[in-house]
Amino acid sequence: QTHYKHRVVIAGGGTAGIPVAAALLHADPATDVAIIEPSETHYYQPGWTLVGGGDMRAKDTKTDTASVMPEGATWIKDAVTGFDPEHNRVTLVSGNILEYDYLVVAMGLQIDWDAIEGLTETLGKNGVTSNYRYDLAPYTNELAQSLGNGANALFTQPAMPIKCAGAPQKALYLTADTLRRRGVKAHIGFYNQGGAMFGVPAYARELDKVIAGYGATPYFGHNLVAVDGTKKQATFETQDGRVTVDFDMLHVVPPQSAPDVIKHSPLAGEAGWVTVDKNRLTHTRYANIFGLGDCTDTPNAKTMAAVRRQFPVVVAALRRAMGTLGATAAPLEYDGYGACPLTVAHGKVLLAEFRYNGEVVSSFPLDPTQPRRIHWPLKKYFFPWLYWHVMLKGKAWSLPAPKPRPTSTA
Ligand code: FAD
Repeated sequence: QTHYKHRVVIAGGGTAGIPVAAALLHADPATDVAIIEPSETHYYQPGWTLVGGGDMRAKDTKTDTASVMPEGATWIKDAVTGFDPEHNRVTLVSGNILEYDYLVVAMGLQIDWDAIEGLTETLGKNGVTSNYRYDLAPYTNELAQSLGNGANALFTQPAMPIKCAGAPQKALYLTADTLRRRGVKAHIGFYNQGGAMFGVPAYARELDKVIAGYGATPYFGHNLVAVDGTKKQATFETQDGRVTVDFDMLHVVPPQSAPDVIKHSPLAGEAGWVTVDKNRLTHTRYANIFGLGDCTDTPNAKTMAAVRRQFPVVVAALRRAMGTLGATAAPLEYDGYGACPLTVAHGKVLLAEFRYNGEVVSSFPLDPTQPRRIHWPLKKYFFPWLYWHVMLKGKAWSLPAPKPRPTSTA
């Protein structure tokens, strides 16, 4: 067992952890920053929706973790097994102990595949797929290309919160559009645990029209609890008991929660997420701990877009705490920004942007509730470029903040 120390320790080197390290080192290259990240592969998860639609190659959504590690950061290829905030320490799978002055928690969330009975053994076969896994997303498109007339295609959505709340229905729209282009008439159902198409009413109203336009049926209050791959049957819990539905294709989005290591630690609140101030992103009990990305309890949409506006806030707070930022600089605050580019068809996107309390905002002077062709190249080319070349380098996107916009949908 080795006991060692770094000034700043970042737990998790995914979408949130890497930009924090890069920006810190950019501001002061001498900063002692270590990133604990077990995976040798780094993913651009928002691309998996396009992979599932046949609009992007899977291999373009991943790279080696080594290639995104900022110069000057120490990569600890290990995983956190426990947090000891009273002693400023984390324990690692290797048995080693790592001490810190400042800790940033950016471990993402855990997808609870096993919470659905019978699911894991049938994933990737029997028509059962999910865009929430790199290796399965291409199977979504294979199924869309092979379904025939009269087929039953089911798309599920679990209880919130999940990462990218719009992704379950994006899978539906791209599949439905593929079937329409192939001239195939299928029965398409959206089995949603919740009671609306989207959490922000102005966008939900437009999405009601989009799903109706495909002749697909939303089934609200339906929570997937079991899958029988060989019989090709999915079972849902509803207010009126269990319902079993036959399928030819089943796109599953399982329930999601905080990583177990966080849930069982002093950093977590009742719901299991890291508790942080929703504007400052500092821990509610430990002044030298910061949290961002999918693992926190902030009531924003868990998206990469949110992380893009969170990481500069964490970096400024860290530098202020370390005394490397002028004391007069006003503290940055996170406003709850999140965005969800809803791929309503191949070549068309409803770019939903919002802040805390469901306030509709937009980066563009156009009604944000309307699906637009010009937003497709943003999703397909610009956002990935922004991720790989700007965000992961720790550079903040310096366009003006998105503005509140009136919407035309009444
Ligand atoms: P992650 O990027 O998941 O990183 C967490 C990191 O922590 C991982 O590298 C992991 O290996 C590491 N880790 C885990 N456990 C440990 C441990 N014990 N010790 C150390 N490290 C650990 N967002 C958008 O903005 N727009 C979209 O269109 C969009 N679409 C999406 C579609 C899909 C299908 C999916 C799955 C996600 C989508 N997202 C989208 C969401 C976006 O990918 C996430 O919100 C974002 O990746 C969150 O960043 P994060 O760093 O919190 O988590």
